[in-house]
Amino acid sequence: MADVVAVLGRGVVPADEPLLYADDFGVLRGDGIFETIHVRDGVPFLLSEHVSRMARSADRMRLDLPDAAAMIGLAGQACDAYGPHEGALRLVCTRGRETGGPPTVFATLKPVAPAILAARRDGLRLAPLTLGYGVHTRAAAPWLLGGAKCLSYAIAMAAVRHAGELGFDDVLWTSEDGFVFEGPTSSVVWAEGEVLYTVPAETGVLPGTTNRYLFDRAEEVGFVTAEKIPTVAQLAESDGVWLTSSVRGISPVLAIGENELAMHPLTRTLQRLLGFPTPD
Ligand code: PLP
Repeated sequence: MADVVAVLGRGVVPADEPLLYADDFGVLRGDGIFETIHVRDGVPFLLSEHVSRMARSADRMRLDLPDAAAMIGLAGQACDAYGPHEGALRLVCTRGRETGGPPTVFATLKPVAPAILAARRDGLRLAPLTLGYGVHTRAAAPWLLGGAKCLSYAIAMAAVRHAGELGFDDVLWTSEDGFVFEGPTSSVVWAEGEVLYTVPAETGVLPGTTNRYLFDRAEEVGFVTAEKIPTVAQLAESDGVWLTSSVRGISPVLAIGENELAMHPLTRTLQRLLGFPTPD
């Protein structure tokens, strides 16, 4: 499948055509927001949930995001050009140019990276790394933009590189006081008996659309759901841990630092519940 790029107000453009001005605040400062959406057979999954979250991020950033109909229309243009395939759709809105004018809004759509498919099947080993905040810091500090999906993922990517250098696949963000937040691009879910847990949004983690969908249906596979804030040691002692996000779906966590974890027996059941194909 060829990559697709669509620009608000212009429609689909050649994917290798330069798109941004050199003074776009998205480039200069990472000042903007985005969403990543799983496309199934050419249809964006949970599109209105993603567009609603994008509007919440825009509100937090005082950013002038076009209305939901415009964003849904843009996603539709990209998907129509892509065809009935699996893919990863990004919707991006930057603060626009330093010289003024409207926000820069575009969509990209491309195949899912093989590493994501492998993580869904084989699992992940996580390095617990501190984000440097206390567990309650972001609740009282809105400028830290907890819970907003901002473009500035440089720290997140640096952490993933650092984890790779240590021999891990991904990161478990922790608070400076040793509590669990989330992954740099994912939510954390874990099981204790018949309870499926995640970390509450008031800690500043991004409320995951995948988690919402999973928790709304968990009862169908015998789980009740709840939220709490575990320490890394408590998480490692649970019955099973996963990272969830839109394109990866739900990937089993097989190690956290020095602690080896077993794959929970309901892992494939949860993947099927989210509508992802399973290897067995
Ligand atoms: N937390 C962070 C920091 C993320 O970047 C993401 C997704 O990219 C998630 C959680 C999971 O969100 P979703 O399930 O909506 O993809």
